[in-house]
Amino acid sequence: MTLTSLRQQLLAGDTTPAAILRQLAGDIATRDSQTGAYLSYDLESALAEAARADLSLPLGGIPIAIKDNLNVLGQPCTCGSKFLAENYTSPYDATVIRKLRAAGAIPFGRMNQDEFAMGSSTENSALQVTRNPHDPARIPGGSSGGSAASVAAGTAIAALGSDTGGSIRQPASHCGVVGLKPSYGRVSRYGLVAFASSLDQIGPLTQSVEDAARMLQAIAGYDPLDSTCLDVPVPDYLAGLHDGVKGLKLGVPKEYFGEGIDPGVRARVEAAIQSLAAQGAEIVELSLPHTEYAVATYYVIAPAEASSNLSRFDGIRYGHRTSSPADILDLYKKSREEGFGPEVKRRIILGTYVLSSGYYDAYYSRAQKVRTLIRRDFENAFQQVDAIVSPVAPTPARKIGAFAADPLHEYLSDIFTLSANLAGIPGISVPCGTTDFDGGKNLPVGLQILGPHLGEAKLLQIAQAAEARREDHP
Ligand code: GLN
Repeated sequence: MTLTSLRQQLLAGDTTPAAILRQLAGDIATRDSQTGAYLSYDLESALAEAARADLSLPLGGIPIAIKDNLNVLGQPCTCGSKFLAENYTSPYDATVIRKLRAAGAIPFGRMNQDEFAMGSSTENSALQVTRNPHDPARIPGGSSGGSAASVAAGTAIAALGSDTGGSIRQPASHCGVVGLKPSYGRVSRYGLVAFASSLDQIGPLTQSVEDAARMLQAIAGYDPLDSTCLDVPVPDYLAGLHDGVKGLKLGVPKEYFGEGIDPGVRARVEAAIQSLAAQGAEIVELSLPHTEYAVATYYVIAPAEASSNLSRFDGIRYGHRTSSPADILDLYKKSREEGFGPEVKRRIILGTYVLSSGYYDAYYSRAQKVRTLIRRDFENAFQQVDAIVSPVAPTPARKIGAFAADPLHEYLSDIFTLSANLAGIPGISVPCGTTDFDGGKNLPVGLQILGPHLGEAKLLQIAQAAEARREDHP
C-alpha cells in the first residue's frame, strides 16, 4: 500500500496507526528473513507514538523506515558497521526525523546499508546480507539497500536513505521503487552520520512519485544546525505534480548511452523516453563532455572527505574500543583495525593518500577542478533543456558476490549517478519496466531524471508522467 492510499484509509477511519504497525511487524517477522532489510525495529516505542498520532498532519500516523545512518533518539545507529553495532545509542533526533515527527510520521525500523554508506550493493554491511525482493540471489543495490528492499517487498510503506554518489537512486532502480536525491542544501544533514560532506544528501525511497513528493515536502527546508542547508522557501511539491510534460524539453546525453550499457536497460530507458515524447515532451540530444571523468573525480573526493570524517571513530568517543591496548596509540590502531571492514579501510587509505603532502595537488586539487567542469556541463545543458533523462545504472541488479574481488568494477557501475552529487543537482529514479539479465528474469530498470539545482518540483512532475504511462513500456 502506498503512503498516499494509506493516508486516505487512516482519514476514512478504515485503519489505525497501531493496526498498521502491528501488520508491518507481522510481515517483517514472517517475510523479512528472505530479504534481510531490517537490522532492528522497536515496536513498543512506535506503538506508544502511534497512540498519540495526529492524523490531521500530512504524514499523520504513517510509519517510515530509516536507514541505519540517521540518528533517532534512543535507537541504534550502526551504519552497517561493527564499530557502532555494540554500544552506540543515538542521543538525539536527526533534523529529518524531527521534521518527519512534526509531520505526524512514526520512524519505524533500522534499515541495512553498506558500511558507512560505502558501496553500491549493501554487500559491504558488516552485519547482514540484504537480498533483492525480485530475485533473492541478487543484490538490492546500495548503499540504501535495506530501505529500497523493504519498500519493494512491502515490509515498509516508505523509507529514508542517503545518497552520496547514487545510494538512493541506484537501489531504487534495482528494486523497482522511486528514489529521490534532493539538491545539495535542500534537506538538512544534521544527524546523518557523514560520509562525504560535500556530496551527502538525505532523501525518500517510496512506492510512488506522489509518495516521494509528500516525503520531500516533510523533510525539506532550512535548518540552522546544518550550515550547508539553504534558507530558501520550500515550494508545494504536490501542486504541479500532474501537469504533465507537454512543451518541456528533455535532454538525452549521448555519454549515458555508450559502451557498457546492457541492451535491456537501454531498451527500457529509450521506451520510457519515447513515452514522454508521446506525451508532448521535446527530446533534445546533448553532450555532457566531462562524464567520463566522474568516476575518477568522485573516487578521489569522496574517500578524501571520508578519511577526515571517519577520524572521529577512534575508540574513545564512539562505539567499539579494543579490549587490552598497550598504550593510547595502540588503542586507536586496534579499535579501528577491529571496528572497520575492508571497504571502509580501503577508502580511508585512498583518502589519506590523496590528501597527503606531495599528492594533494596531483589528486585532490585536480579532482576539485574537474568537479567544476562537470558542474558546468550541467549548467550549460540546463540553458537548453528543463531536465536530463538517462539510465540509473548500466545493468539491472547483479548476483550477490559477483564483484567481490573487483572493487574497481563496482566503482565503474556508479558512472551515471555520481555526477549529480558532484554538481549538487537533484536526481530521481522512477521504475520504467523490467528486463532479463545474466540468468535473471523480469529485473527492474530505473529511469533517471536530473534537473537544475532546487528543481525538484519539475523532476517530480516529469517522473509522475513517466510513472503514469508505465503500461506503455512494461
Ligand atoms: N557507490 C558509491 C560509493 O560507494 C556511492 C555510495 C553512496 O551514495 N553513499 O561511494
